[in-house]
Amino acid sequence: ERADLATLKDVPAITLDGVEITLCANIELPEEAQAAADAGADGIGLFRSEFLFMGRDTLPDEDEQYEAYALVVRTMGGKTVTIRTLDIGADKTLDGEATVATNPALGQRAIRYCLARPELFATQLRAILRASVHGKVQILIPMIAHLREVRAAYAAIASARRDLDARGEAYATNIEVGAMVEVPAVAIAIEPFIEAFDFLSIGTNDLIQYTLAIDRTDPDVDALYDPLHPAVLRLIANSINAGARAGKRVSVCGEMAGDTELTRLLLGLGLTHFSMHPTQLLDVKREILAAHSNALRAKVATVLNRAAEMDLTLLNR
Ligand code: PEP
Ligand code: MG
Repeated sequence: ERADLATLKDVPAITLDGVEITLCANIELPEEAQAAADAGADGIGLFRSEFLFMGRDTLPDEDEQYEAYALVVRTMGGKTVTIRTLDIGADKTLDGEATVATNPALGQRAIRYCLARPELFATQLRAILRASVHGKVQILIPMIAHLREVRAAYAAIASARRDLDARGEAYATNIEVGAMVEVPAVAIAIEPFIEAFDFLSIGTNDLIQYTLAIDRTDPDVDALYDPLHPAVLRLIANSINAGARAGKRVSVCGEMAGDTELTRLLLGLGLTHFSMHPTQLLDVKREILAAHSNALRAKVATVLNRAAEMDLTLLNR
């Protein structure tokens, strides 16, 4: 079975009714980019950069980060590499850093953590910008919830560019900047966020956690962690539809994107950009090749409009 899947590597992901789908890979470490390239990924949709910072005593400096980002960019040979800025805090903590927040998932994580540590954020942004000379880099900001965070993040990027200008270091000037949609507030009031960014990427792992008030790391409430909850599906639909209206790319990079049980549902929600673990990519592509996007869209719309339980068997072939 794996052998026949391998034949799909260079086959474009197009539905039976001709909708072109982009399939990117999620990676946590630079070495994993090779697996993404080998699976025929269209790019890296999510590089979880925090893994460079975890499990060690000291922070990686600008040069070390630059080398790591540049390796991924070179491995992908001109395909887009989406580097997410540090998403530390909550379930991902730095060694030696005591977590003091009573509820770390609602505390100072990700962009909140970075904006509170301007030097750490600037170091990472300069390293990402420098890596952009080797290919096509995009910056992705995690856990955005407020427009003032958007403005602060852009100001930090502008300041990192000025630092490099002052040093005479090169970087691509056309780097796209996007944000994760993982706080329900953003998925609900999405228009200004769509406008502010070049693209958005839905982090369903956190979006489900925050929408359903279910700790994604707590096994006691695991059974309630439900990607099919009508509220979750409405938030995903709202985000995808807003992207389509504005002519901007909206992808899903949470675990839902790599679950073949959910591929037809996501196509039915109008999703055209998926990002997942490299090992899931060809299985998802096989589902896409056998799907009729417009038929799925009609069926999913009917269920969503009633806010009914999503019954996946309705979407079967
Ligand atoms: C997500 O929240 O869905 C996501 C992709 O980010 P992470 O799993 O790293 O929080
Ligand atoms: Mg997340």
